[in-house]
Amino acid sequence: MMSFGSWDEDEGDEESRQYSLDRDEAFALTVAQYRKQYEANRKAKVGEMIACPICGKKMPKRTYHHSFCSTRHKDKYWNRVDEERRFRALLFC
Ligand SMILES: [Zn+2]
Repeated sequence: MMSFGSWDEDEGDEESRQYSLDRDEAFALTVAQYRKQYEANRKAKVGEMIACPICGKKMPKRTYHHSFCSTRHKDKYWNRVDEERRFRALLFC
């Protein structure tokens, strides 16, 4: 079942090509959503309710820089944004 090795020579395999496109779009969409929430958090004032861009957990903004529920999710966010940057660089070269 896991033989993706030759699909791009296989003319009958439009479906897996479509699947891979959808998945890439879904990934870009997720990153765009993360980024949007992050921007909203940055604009929020200390004491306002914000939602973690990664897990959606709601919390009052504690400090000016506070945008994530935890350091783990902060790291995850920046990893995702970085992955997207690498991914787009691949597309445009
Ligand atoms: Zn979180």
